[in-house]
Amino acid sequence: STAAAAAVEDPINPSVKVNYTQLLIGGQFVDAVSGKTFQTLDPRTGEVIANIAEGDAEDVNRAVAVARKAFDEGPWPRMTAYERQRVLLRFADLIEKHNDELAALETWDNGKPYEQAAKIEVPMLARLMRYYAGWADKIHGLTVPADGPYHVQTLHEPIGVAGQIIPWNFPLLMFGWKVGPALACGNTVVMKTAEQTPLSALLASKLLHEAGLPSGVLNVVSGFGPTAGAAIASHMDVDKLAFTGSTATGKVVLQLAAKSNLKPVTLELGGKSPFIVCEDADVDKAVELAHFALFFNQGQCCCAGSRTFVHERVYDEFVEKAKARALNRSVGDPFRGGIEQGPQIDTDQFDKILKYINSGIESGATLETGGERFGNKGYYIKPTVFSNVKDDMLIAKDEIFGPVQTILKYKDLDEVIRRANSTQYGLAAGVFTHNIDTANTLTRALRVGTVWVNCFDTFDAAIPFGGYKMSGHGREKGIYSLSNYLQVKAVVTALKNPAW
Ligand code: ADP
Repeated sequence: STAAAAAVEDPINPSVKVNYTQLLIGGQFVDAVSGKTFQTLDPRTGEVIANIAEGDAEDVNRAVAVARKAFDEGPWPRMTAYERQRVLLRFADLIEKHNDELAALETWDNGKPYEQAAKIEVPMLARLMRYYAGWADKIHGLTVPADGPYHVQTLHEPIGVAGQIIPWNFPLLMFGWKVGPALACGNTVVMKTAEQTPLSALLASKLLHEAGLPSGVLNVVSGFGPTAGAAIASHMDVDKLAFTGSTATGKVVLQLAAKSNLKPVTLELGGKSPFIVCEDADVDKAVELAHFALFFNQGQCCCAGSRTFVHERVYDEFVEKAKARALNRSVGDPFRGGIEQGPQIDTDQFDKILKYINSGIESGATLETGGERFGNKGYYIKPTVFSNVKDDMLIAKDEIFGPVQTILKYKDLDEVIRRANSTQYGLAAGVFTHNIDTANTLTRALRVGTVWVNCFDTFDAAIPFGGYKMSGHGREKGIYSLSNYLQVKAVVTALKNPAW
């Protein structure tokens, strides 16, 4: 690990070129109206990767006008569903063809291990696109019985121009979760990527056009939240908003939507998900899964299992082994093979995580391992484990979004249900037990959008994802995601001859 720490001093050169840095509006790469650019940084070093066109309200206006025209005049919403399906299928093929290039951009911009980007995330994006391609020609309304001489049917129509704002932790997957259902249903899109990670979505969008997407259907405006993001959320001509990010920003965009044109909003926000290790648990396996649930993606998952509740009977053994596992986690340059953890996304997150670590120490939790930066370049943080964590400590309440595991002890099921649910969040939970009654009790009692039993972070395209409580509104992925992008029109026709 000293060798790995030394190696982060000398970062590997990513074997990929940044070809797209401008805004993508109306099928063309263009500069921002203001001519402004911002820097996207390499989290391994803090050095500049590229200067990116910085979209603002004026650019959003242009993008929305183009998306509006593409929706109102076509061809996208009017072509056959089969044709839209084929565009998404060709896009999936192109994603596979450009797998390594997409993965390298993702790692460079975000800091996540390249092996994970190349073997899991980019293939998942292709899978998602094929899933939504499958839906494109299977979306249709119903024939409805009515009390009277009427023929009643529902038409499922695209909602119009979808505004989409995504975060930096899974840039490509968030792109896919958003554009997949929007495009399959025949909508047009104005997307704002996160300012930390604009690169991969620009390449993906270029490939989507290569696959035959008509110009103006997908417009990408890179830029900042309070400018470009707020302009999308408050635009009078955006018909629907989908947002993924922090709960605080979710509140802002919901207000902007309400104050402008009451566009419907789906929100995928923060979490403080419990991972519950029951008394029958095989401790080695529980430790490994709880470790993955928290540390995956540098701890930067909205659904991270960030409150590890362990039954008192297995607690001591669990803590000891969780500490050993964290000590063994391979941290280093994410372009190196065998690396499990790269740097955090940026200096803000890095500082915030270290602040939470200090708060944990000050509030009396036991720091088992980690607790400081790794190496002395970039935003790496040592895998950190706290034991003896109490529910009212800040580290047990706030979303840390970093590699900090907090372990809490519990005695019985009713107690852990009450404590697990006593949070403003309700995104996900992990349950580790082979007792079917315990599993059934927990899966029904936990007020969360996803319960993973003896697994975690399973994200198939067909599995719906979303939050209870302040973790959000609505569901992404799966059949449920389609309704976010469809209007239902009831058509009631009087029957001339009711006898038939
Ligand atoms: P995070 O802490 O994950 O960066 P944010 O909620 O700040 O969470 O960011 C998620 C996305 O929301 C990003 O694309 C960001 O630029 C955008 N965003 C931030 N502030 C606003 C805002 N006031 N209005 C619209 N979008 C915003």
